[in-house]
Amino acid sequence: MNELLLKFEFRFGEANLALLENALAFADRAHANQLRESDAPYIEHPVAVAAYLLEMGLDMATVVAALLHDTIEDGDDVTTELLEKEFGREVALLVDGVTKLTKSGKQTYITKKQEQSENLRKLFLAIAADVRVVIIKLADRLHNMRTLAFCAPAKQTRIAKETLEVYAPLAHRFGMGAIRSELEDLSFAYLMPEEFEKTRALVGSQQAERVEALNSAMRDMEEMLTEQGIEAKLAGRPKHIYSVYRKMQRSNAGINEVYDLIAIRVIVDSVNDCYGALGVIHAAWKPLPGRFKDYIAMPKPNMYRSLHTTLMSPDGIPFEVQLRTQEMHEMAEYGIAAHWMYKEGRSVETVLDKKTHWLRQVLEANEMAENSREFTDSILKDFLGEYVFVLSPQGEIFDLPVGSTPLDFAYRIHTNIGHRTQHARVNGAMVRLDYILKTNDVVEILTGGEKAGPSRDWLNIVKTQSAKSKIRQWFKRAGREENIQKGREMLEAAAKRQGQSLAVLLKPEYYQDVLKRHNFAALDDMYSAIGFGGVASGQILHKLMDMHRKATKLEEMSRRLTSSGPAAAAPVPKSRVHPHGIVIHGDPGMAVRFSHCCNPLPGDAIVGYITRGRGVSIHRADCKNVRSLGQEAARMIDIEWAAATQGAFTVSVRVHAVDRVGSIMEISKLLVNQNISVSDMNCRAQPEGHVIIDMSFTVQSAEQLALILQGLKKLKVVMDVYRIDR
Ligand code: MN
Repeated sequence: MNELLLKFEFRFGEANLALLENALAFADRAHANQLRESDAPYIEHPVAVAAYLLEMGLDMATVVAALLHDTIEDGDDVTTELLEKEFGREVALLVDGVTKLTKSGKQTYITKKQEQSENLRKLFLAIAADVRVVIIKLADRLHNMRTLAFCAPAKQTRIAKETLEVYAPLAHRFGMGAIRSELEDLSFAYLMPEEFEKTRALVGSQQAERVEALNSAMRDMEEMLTEQGIEAKLAGRPKHIYSVYRKMQRSNAGINEVYDLIAIRVIVDSVNDCYGALGVIHAAWKPLPGRFKDYIAMPKPNMYRSLHTTLMSPDGIPFEVQLRTQEMHEMAEYGIAAHWMYKEGRSVETVLDKKTHWLRQVLEANEMAENSREFTDSILKDFLGEYVFVLSPQGEIFDLPVGSTPLDFAYRIHTNIGHRTQHARVNGAMVRLDYILKTNDVVEILTGGEKAGPSRDWLNIVKTQSAKSKIRQWFKRAGREENIQKGREMLEAAAKRQGQSLAVLLKPEYYQDVLKRHNFAALDDMYSAIGFGGVASGQILHKLMDMHRKATKLEEMSRRLTSSGPAAAAPVPKSRVHPHGIVIHGDPGMAVRFSHCCNPLPGDAIVGYITRGRGVSIHRADCKNVRSLGQEAARMIDIEWAAATQGAFTVSVRVHAVDRVGSIMEISKLLVNQNISVSDMNCRAQPEGHVIIDMSFTVQSAEQLALILQGLKKLKVVMDVYRIDR
């Protein structure tokens, strides 16, 4: 603890020491009486994380946030607001970023799987907002992994698995090679202890054999480079155990075929010296064909830069040589964190560039995903899994998950390139769209015109979640054309029922007002909204008729004023509609009442049932009460709705929704937007986080109800919705 204070003072000066002391005291209070699994006081954990980041060269806010990183999650009554008040916004946001959602929000209703993906979604978005969040999180995880021995076996397995699936790939994604290797080896040891020991023994015996050969090669190499005036530091680098294991698994190779089991690392002063040294080395040792890689000219997407080559030693043992500058070396070990070590250095721009790339992918995936599960899947599979590198014809490198196709590549470049893909060329030759891309493939996409679009079977071809989401999105939006068409027809039908012609009503002076009121940019938006149930056709029609009525009245008045002749007699509509809007064939004189069992709406198929002494009661044709009266067919009477029936009719619907605080809000919002006021609502929580909501409201027609049901169905929180009898 004292060491942390001393180092902090050395780095940030005495004036800033009080900040760290405050944070230390705050964390100490928040974790008072808490113990680690090792029975050590809890505070040792955040102190270790902060010390690690201080050592790595991170800035003051990050170190302070590291000290506080578990206070919201584990402390009583510690909130982001409190931290902001005490330590400022920057620190508070960093701590909030590494804090699990479930702890800060105290939601208990979601399942374990949902909880995990909600937490991951929050973490990924926090990283996209401030990349230091990932650095704190990884340092946190590293310390937890280093002290995992104290946990129970079940917890060890769970933590190690999560580390291997999420955190090691995250470290790799951000170029943090040192943390990644340690996380992988620690996880490997807990998850597969036998394989771990076997591989370790294998590597150990092989290394002993190779060290001698390598030592002499290193001495020769250093001498030759000095002769040529190239100053170089040479070191042997053992490969980490998990990567050897993976390499042997992947290529089914024996340990002898893993050439980079130990590599010689050559660190020189400049990029020029990297290539100069390579020339010297290739002149003296025979390089293995196909093993030279220039990651300086073409850095890996995680910013890794170096020259790699594999040489054959005089006694026939192949070995790898990696050439790089000191800066490239720091970048390979610490990745994005090196940005803070090289504040004045040249790498800042690249770092920010790559960060923007990650940020764009994360936000895009978030936008496309239907739920947090799909989002985290897309990040884990598309960006944190095993990948291949491919190139655009311009030489830009893209990493795509193993199994990706040219379509995945096209969608990664740009959504619209993806949509318009027609053919693909790989390394100059035409390939099928389901061709599986390999590392170093140069991929060229040939697109069609603006009108070209994806095909549904692409969904079976693409590998990446993001391409899948984009294709689905396209078809969803393509539905717009259908919606416009459907909306127009619905409005026409509604007009016809009112004995109106849409052509007469659709004048700009009438509909401008309607568009403005509903925020539609054009008529098509209005049709589309009617089509997908965003607004009721009756509502639009009445407004149009209203405008039309006012306009004709004005016209008539002005005509009367200007001409002395008699105005043309307006046709009086002849209607013999029953007061309730029911036409009874045969006996128009009967009294009519609506049944309360099935609440028929204008537009529903209906039947009348002659009740003793109470006239005709109206039921929906599919009402189960009526069906049970089937034998008394003689008392059934043929009725239908009058064309222009209007009025308020009460209906009841049942909604099955996700039991989320927001569900009822979203449902209510939709109803309010359609001018529906709910007269009765009753919610019942169900097992598995569901809720059943029964509600009643008034509508004017079955058509309007259908639109409302359609609208409700489209809400993400709604699983099912249907009309019920009350
Ligand atoms: Mn922690």
